[in-house]
Amino acid sequence: MIGAGLAGLVFAREVSAQNDVVLFDKSRGVGGRMATRYADPYRFDHGAQFFTARSATFRKFLEPLIGAGVVAPWHARFAELTGDTITSERSWDDDHPHYVGAPAMNALPKALAEGLDTRLGLRIERANLEKGLWTLFADDGSEFGGFDWLVCTQPSPQITPVIGADSALGALADSVEMKACYALMLGFDQPVATPFDAARVLQADISWISVNSSKPGRSGDFTLVVHATNAWADANIELDLAEVSAHMLEQLESVSGIDGRRASERQIHRWRYANTDKQNGPACFVDRESKIAACGDWFIRGRIEAAFRSAAALAEEFRAIL
Ligand SMILES: Cc1cc2nc3c(=O)[nH]c(=O)nc-3n(C[C@H](O)[C@H](O)[C@H](O)COP(=O)(O)OP(=O)(O)OC[C@H]3O[C@@H](n4cnc5c(N)ncnc54)[C@H](O)[C@@H]3O)c2cc1C
Repeated sequence: MIGAGLAGLVFAREVSAQNDVVLFDKSRGVGGRMATRYADPYRFDHGAQFFTARSATFRKFLEPLIGAGVVAPWHARFAELTGDTITSERSWDDDHPHYVGAPAMNALPKALAEGLDTRLGLRIERANLEKGLWTLFADDGSEFGGFDWLVCTQPSPQITPVIGADSALGALADSVEMKACYALMLGFDQPVATPFDAARVLQADISWISVNSSKPGRSGDFTLVVHATNAWADANIELDLAEVSAHMLEQLESVSGIDGRRASERQIHRWRYANTDKQNGPACFVDRESKIAACGDWFIRGRIEAAFRSAAALAEEFRAIL
């Protein structure tokens, strides 16, 4: 399997009791976009911020993880900012829970990865099917062969570079666009007073401000995570990161009055493939002849629950195959 994000991990857990599954991921940790950046003494969830659970199946899946404490509701003071004005406010409560990984977003994927064969820090550059078996070629020159099936769970634009465009999956993946995002991470020596823990920002080049340290189980160090809008990130995807940071700091100050230049830790991350609009196609892909399959949020929507749904749909299809 390529990718140890939520979709890859959920699918692997579903089928690993009956099959030998190996997950390859180019990152040093599991979780993909459910990511946490460590910059001592600060921790930042710089990818996904929170998630909801609308379906009964996802809620059931979360139950043991909530029981184990690796998922917890975030009782944030939520605000909507239109420009520099708070236009609505409410508190997130247990009637409509907004969940996060605890004590960090990547705690959930880490818990799911326990007991799975994950090979990290290996970017798969090419996959080849010969005599009914798949071989994967990694960026360090190593190759891994003898796989009956190849399951791709990477973001849609990262699929054809591995399998080629000349296939049904390649054509489908290339038809689904993904949008970019920048994450600005700020760690402060002293807490900053904010009228919200989480804010959706409208009519600006930033779309989101969160007090990361207000999430459950976080350490006391005050941290902020700011996201650019997908539109601004797409339009400025090759911009120098120092310029991105400067623009986002200026935007942060103009909408919230927070002076991010006072932060003692400042980091910026470019997410080239962060988000997908709602799709109307299948929830996953299976080609029984070539023994290649795919799942991931991009089949449905750029959401954690969508990644779960896609993986669960693929696992359901595999129950009839394997
Ligand atoms: C900035 C940002 C904010 C977000 N906010 C939210 C939110 O608030 N709520 C919400 O529900 N969702 C949010 N999301 C979306 C959410 O994170 C995703 O929907 C979900 O994590 C996708 O999971 P996935 O397994 O489908 O893909 P991913 O998590 O992207 O996993 C794919 C994996 O494939 C690996 N990979 C790719 N190519 C290769 C290769 N060639 N070789 C080896 N490995 C490879 C990657 O390293 C990655 O680990 C956000 C995402 C971002 C980036």
